[in-house]
Amino acid sequence: MTSHATTSKTPPITNGRGLEPTVVGSHATAAAPVFESLSVLDLFKIGIGPSSSHTVGPMRAALDFLGQADASGRFDEIVRLRIDLLGSLGATGSGHGTDTAIMLGLSGLAPDTVETPQIAETLERIRATGELPLGGRRAVAFDEAKAFVFRPLTVRSEHPNALRITAYDAADETIATAGYYSIGGGFVMRHDEGDVLSPVPAPAEQLHPVPHPFTTGDELVALCEETGLSVAELMLRNEAAWRPREQTVAQLERIWEVMQECVAHGIATGGILPGGLDVKRRSKEWHAKLLERDAAPKTGRPDLLEGMEWVNLYALAVNEENAAGSRVVTAPTNGAAGIIPAVMHYADRFADCVEDELPWQVRFLLVAGAIGIIIKSNASISGAEVGCQGEVGSACAMAAGGFAAVLGATPAQIENAAEIGIEHNLGLTCDPIKGLVQIPCIERNAMASVKAINAARMAKQGDGTHYVSLDTAVETMRQTGADMSDKYKETALGGLAVAYIEC
Ligand code: SF4
Repeated sequence: MTSHATTSKTPPITNGRGLEPTVVGSHATAAAPVFESLSVLDLFKIGIGPSSSHTVGPMRAALDFLGQADASGRFDEIVRLRIDLLGSLGATGSGHGTDTAIMLGLSGLAPDTVETPQIAETLERIRATGELPLGGRRAVAFDEAKAFVFRPLTVRSEHPNALRITAYDAADETIATAGYYSIGGGFVMRHDEGDVLSPVPAPAEQLHPVPHPFTTGDELVALCEETGLSVAELMLRNEAAWRPREQTVAQLERIWEVMQECVAHGIATGGILPGGLDVKRRSKEWHAKLLERDAAPKTGRPDLLEGMEWVNLYALAVNEENAAGSRVVTAPTNGAAGIIPAVMHYADRFADCVEDELPWQVRFLLVAGAIGIIIKSNASISGAEVGCQGEVGSACAMAAGGFAAVLGATPAQIENAAEIGIEHNLGLTCDPIKGLVQIPCIERNAMASVKAINAARMAKQGDGTHYVSLDTAVETMRQTGADMSDKYKETALGGLAVAYIEC
């Protein structure tokens, strides 16, 4: 809730393992915010690692808070900030970089425009000076150890990823306070007066009626059959509700460019990932080995799966970049950011993509976006909400649909490919060790990339008819997520996160 009340009461801090989370709040859930329609560019956002819900979303919330503080008319009186991280953000926010992302957002930096070197520079300056450049406008004393309050056991009923930012004046009275929910994929809802949940940015920028609306796989296939349009062309016509056609094409080409830069930077960078797990970056070494292998004269029987090792490499490169907090494209989240780029790099290098008036990369992303819209509209792409099936499973389905499309699949075959992609990730839990997006996340992206390629190829062998529809698989994912214990939903309280014992 945004308010300018004059109280500075500190809520009790609940902390520690083994205690039952306390659920507070007035909404049943914010899991299915009403977006009249989603754009493909809502699903593919240029941002920073390691997590769209724990990094990109909170950074956008912090940026929004600057506007809220400005609206109070007392921006220049702010002398102290407090940030409460609740539920999953409190449990794994430190490992996922939620605190640093909020510091960057409060400094006026946006996830889609911040340059990688700016991230370290800004954080170093805040830590060295003990001052945060609020909105890039004025310095405010900032001690991160005191400013951030981690409250993992306080879970809002609206969404497990909740945060509240409060600004105080010199008398320790509240100048502005706002609560947010980071609902996955960088999407953010603000908890406004009267318990209203408002998308950030404002609805006017997000809600657009489109000529061919769809929210289910069945509707999408039926629309394609009725209009004679391909999935990619139908999506592109819908995108025209937001911006001219050429602009959408150019922006999707830019997304592909950033994905390529990310892979290139990943395979050129060695060392150890941050966070304390001492995970070695492997892609640089693997890249050298693959180049050497491919250059060597061939002897013996041909290994038909050699290309898959390149797929693994591309996925690792992206997810190592993500874990290092560098620039990636959410696809549809940061944790699962390696799958679509890996499959696209595979398509670029090893597949005969069908020629069309639109570049195949643009068609791939449009179709993957259509699948993402269906999943987000009916279930979730948030690991904190439904487990890893919502992140890696969704990305796998999106990549499978996109790859099938550029191989020349029909809309029914595309729907089938996406269904195979999600069906075989059902039940996948989220249990990152130490709350870092490293183990199992990095390798899991490689596994799902290979699965997506196989799903597309299996669907292409058929005629599009199959038993379980994409819509049924998505609904099963939603129900499985609802039944899943919170231990397996980005809290690092179950699975590998606790099975792993530090020596
Ligand atoms: S386990 Fe899956 S959902 Fe959880 S942080 Fe890793 S990639 Fe994301």
